[in-house]
Amino acid sequence: MTNSVSGTLIVGASQAGLQIASSLREFGDTDPIVLVGNEDVAPYQRPPLSKAYLTGKATAESLSFRSPDWYAGKGIELRLSTHIQHLELDGPSSGSGAAITSTGEKIPFGRLALAVGGSPRRLAIPGADLDGVCVLRDMTQADDLRRRLDAAFNVVVIGGGFIGLEAAAAARAAGKDVTVVDVADRLLGRAVAPEVSAFYLAAHRRRGTQVLLSAAIEAIEGNDQNRVTGVRLGDGTVLPADVVLVGVGLVANTDLAAGLGLEIDRGIVVDALARTSNPNIVAAGDCTTLPHPLTGEGRYRIESVQNAVAQAQIAAATLVGRPQGPAAVPWFWSDQADLKLQIAGLSNGYDHVVVRGEPDEEQFSVLYYAAGRLIAIDAINAPRDYMAVRKLLGTGGSIPAELAGDTNVPLRDLAAAVTV
Ligand SMILES: Cc1cc2nc3c(=O)[nH]c(=O)nc-3n(C[C@H](O)[C@H](O)[C@H](O)COP(=O)(O)OP(=O)(O)OC[C@H]3O[C@@H](n4cnc5c(N)ncnc54)[C@H](O)[C@@H]3O)c2cc1C
Repeated sequence: MTNSVSGTLIVGASQAGLQIASSLREFGDTDPIVLVGNEDVAPYQRPPLSKAYLTGKATAESLSFRSPDWYAGKGIELRLSTHIQHLELDGPSSGSGAAITSTGEKIPFGRLALAVGGSPRRLAIPGADLDGVCVLRDMTQADDLRRRLDAAFNVVVIGGGFIGLEAAAAARAAGKDVTVVDVADRLLGRAVAPEVSAFYLAAHRRRGTQVLLSAAIEAIEGNDQNRVTGVRLGDGTVLPADVVLVGVGLVANTDLAAGLGLEIDRGIVVDALARTSNPNIVAAGDCTTLPHPLTGEGRYRIESVQNAVAQAQIAAATLVGRPQGPAAVPWFWSDQADLKLQIAGLSNGYDHVVVRGEPDEEQFSVLYYAAGRLIAIDAINAPRDYMAVRKLLGTGGSIPAELAGDTNVPLRDLAAAVTV
C-alpha cells in the first residue's frame, strides 16, 4: 500500500471512520490521521436515536464515543462540519491524492479510507417535502423528530422496517396515536422470516399501534402553511398526522467513490479485506457491499454497528499492510417497546425455519437453515438462544433442525452435544 508523508484521510466521522482511526493507532501506525465528517458533532452512537434518545432517556453527551482529549491524545485530527465534495488521485490506481471540501479547501492524503455511510431513502410522492415530514439518520434529525413528537397527537410512520418500528414504539409509549403503513404485506419483510413478521404485527397491535400493510401510499397532505396534516392512501383514506416519519431504507453514499471510478453495486464494492476496486483505497461500514463475512460468497449490504466495527478493523489492518481475515459472525439488535430482538448470522438464502418457543409469550427464537445447516437466528427476548447460536456460527457448527425446537433442552447443550 502507498504510504506517503501526508498520512491517512478517513472520510466519514462515525462508527466505521472512528474505528478505522482507532485501529490504525492500535496497529502502531504513527502517521498523521485526519478524520473528516460533515456533521457538527463528534462521532456518536446512532442506534439510540430511535430508542433511548427518542424517548428522552439518553442525552447527546451519553451518545458520544470519545472525548476531545482522546482524539488529541491519539494524534487524530477530527475535522467536523467539513463536507468532502470531491476526491482526486495522483494516478488512476494510486492510493494518494487530495480531497476537496465544499469550501474549496484541499486536504492531501497518502492513504484513503471511505466510511461515508448512507442517507435515508426519500419518498417520491406529492407532499414528501412538507414541514413535519421527518427522516431519522442523524442527531439533528432525531432532535427535530423528538421536538415534533412532543407536540404531536397523531403520528404516521411510513415503512415497517427496524427504524420505523422502533420509533413507532417510542411514540406509542409516549401516548401518541400511532399508525405504521407499509406497501409490503408484512413488517420487516427484507430482514426476517414471515413468522417473525407476524409476531411483530401482533405485538405492535397489542400495544395499541395501528398497522396497515399492502397499503398504497399516494400522497402526504398539508395545510396552507405547508404543514403536514395527513397521509392519503390508495383507497382514499386519509390518516391524520401531525408528524410523518419516513423510514423506507438507506441509500449508500457512493458519489465520492463513483467519482473515483470505483466499482459500485448498491454500495461501494469491497473484498474481504475491505479493499475497493482500487486496492489502495479501503472502505467500511454502511457505504459498502461486501462478501459474506463467514463464507466469502455473494455481495451483501450490512447496515449494523457490528459490521461497521469489524470491517473498519479489517480496513485498518489492510492499510498498515497487515491484512487480517474476516470470520466475524454478523450480529444485530433491535429494541421495540420491551421486545429485544437479537440476530446472529445472515438469514439470506434460508430454505427452512424452526420456531423455538411460543411467539404469543413474547419469548421465542427462529432458527434459519439452508440445506440443513444452521445459518442464523432471530431471538426475541431469548438472549441465551442468541448467544448459543452466535458462538456456534463462529465455530462453523450447526444444530440439527429436528432437535432445535425442543425448549426443554438449552440450545447451548444441543450445540455442545452436536459439536462433540
Ligand atoms: C436510528 C438508527 C437506529 C439504528 N439502530 C441500530 C441497531 O439497533 N443495531 C445496529 O447494529 N445498528 C443500528 N443502526 C445502524 C448503525 O447505526 C449503522 O450501521 C452505523 O452507524 C454505520 O456506521 P458508518 O460509519 O458506516 O456510517 P454512518 O454512521 O452513516 O456514518 C457516515 C458518516 O459520514 C458522513 N459523511 C458522508 N458523506 C460525507 C462527505 N462527503 N464528507 C464528510 N462526511 C461525510 C456522514 O454525515 C456520517 O456522519 C441504526 C441506525 C440508525 C440511523
